[in-house]
Amino acid sequence: MSAIPKPIHDAAAAFDTLPGVGPRAALRYAYWLASQHKDTIKHFARSIESVANGVMHCEICGLWSSTQICSICSDSKRDIGVICVVGTSQDARVIEESGAFRGTYHVLGGLLDPIGGRLPENLTISNLVKRVFNPQKLVREVILAVDPDVSGDMTAHYISKQLHGSSVTISRLARGLQHGAQIEYADGTTISDALGNRRDLSLS
Ligand SMILES: [Zn+2]
Repeated sequence: MSAIPKPIHDAAAAFDTLPGVGPRAALRYAYWLASQHKDTIKHFARSIESVANGVMHCEICGLWSSTQICSICSDSKRDIGVICVVGTSQDARVIEESGAFRGTYHVLGGLLDPIGGRLPENLTISNLVKRVFNPQKLVREVILAVDPDVSGDMTAHYISKQLHGSSVTISRLARGLQHGAQIEYADGTTISDALGNRRDLSLS
């Protein structure tokens, strides 16, 4: 029989599901948690629970938000004529932190990966098409800030085709991001550089 008390075992099993955390670290966290003051543990648990209850996708852009319309979409100082298309909310967060972008976002919910079963209908591409082809014609530019790898290439190509016939300029983040790199781990300078040197895809 294991010497690990069940509550610690259960907490470790929960930590073990976190990305980048292995079973040993998970167990270390669980023991650390057990050694904390009860109020600290309760606060920790409530913080996690609030993610389940208090976070939703913005109805316009799909970013994680605590309100139906996120703080970026509801900010009148943001340029709604430029949409930066990203795979995940995390990618948008990195671009936000670079301070180099003042438009709005569109979160795809991943990138195309037909072999892994992620098809166009699993992403929010149709919502993006609706935003771009909106009769009010508010959008003038779409920047595809997708990872420079095979999935990113496929996604960029697919979206460009879907937006064909619209009057928007379509560009893709370019220099600075090496092939195979992930936006999530890029620094602010690299993102600013890649935004500034985006490649026009409209004619391809
Ligand atoms: Zn939004």
